[in-house]
Amino acid sequence: MKIGFIGLGNMGAPMARNLVAAGHEVTGFDLAPVEVEGMTKVATAEEAAKGQEVVITMLPNGQILRSVAAQIMPVMAQGAVLLDCSTVDVESARQVAQDCATAGLLALDAPVSGGIGGAQAGTLTFMVGGSDAAFAIAKPLFDIMGQKAVHCGESGAGQGAKICNNMILGITMIGTCEAFALADKLGLDASKLFDVVSTSSGYSWSTNAYCPVPGVGPNSPADRDYQPGFAAELMLKDLRLSQQAAESVAADTPLGQAATDLYATFVEKEDGKGRDFSAMLPRLAARARGQ
Ligand code: NAD
Repeated sequence: MKIGFIGLGNMGAPMARNLVAAGHEVTGFDLAPVEVEGMTKVATAEEAAKGQEVVITMLPNGQILRSVAAQIMPVMAQGAVLLDCSTVDVESARQVAQDCATAGLLALDAPVSGGIGGAQAGTLTFMVGGSDAAFAIAKPLFDIMGQKAVHCGESGAGQGAKICNNMILGITMIGTCEAFALADKLGLDASKLFDVVSTSSGYSWSTNAYCPVPGVGPNSPADRDYQPGFAAELMLKDLRLSQQAAESVAADTPLGQAATDLYATFVEKEDGKGRDFSAMLPRLAARARGQ
């Protein structure tokens, strides 16, 4: 397939590499000087998008997505798919899809779960919003870049699924860290608590697959001095998107809001920036109640 790829950062570059390795003809653009072996690098977003069957974007946020989309839509081939894999607000995803429809293009919002490791290994999960026709065209690409693609519904549904999932993750990680910090203060051994929780009703991905305690459970960022992994500032970005979405439909999300506030403090007022989001554990453990 002839593919354009715009946004070749931590996630985009390895995703593009996997498409090249599978034999696709990939033309890429990034503002930064990034090289992907076997990919044709061009100097503008328009050049990357022109005449392609699918144009993939992997960009930092909704505002940048909107501006790149406005740039490339006029040069895209009729019936081509604009496949956005960035995590952005639901409203931007829907607006870009609507503009694509007006311009005779197909659009998918397909944010991912699985992080940089998943992008490199080609094991991402895609959560996809858009038409059946667009999904069918992109499906073989999802199969290369990921291990699973769930067609969640119409435009915006992929972003909705992503931020709901990550709101659960942020809340659960804080709960897990609170419990392990409390257990330590109660004199309880963390590996014993892991044995109990990981097989009891408190279990979750945060404990079972990503335990925030060093030396306990499977290998995780806690075992590497909380080097990310999934950085606390990315968790904060997704939690803020969840609260923006909740506000837009008047949904009551008190724990989502509390998790957002706590990660905002951790990232913007403390030392959380650049650390894995599970570093919430040492942060809580070092504090006394009411501090
Ligand atoms: P990144 O900052 O490493 O990459 C973004 C890239 O976009 C950069 O290389 C930047 O130069 C480029 N860019 C910015 N503006 C541009 C423009 N106008 N035209 C062309 N290129 C432009 O970020 P990342 O970690 O690769 O994340 C990309 C997206 O994936 C984000 O929306 C993020 O929330 C999401 N995501 C990231 C992770 C993760 O673990 N890193 C996991 C899931 C989802």
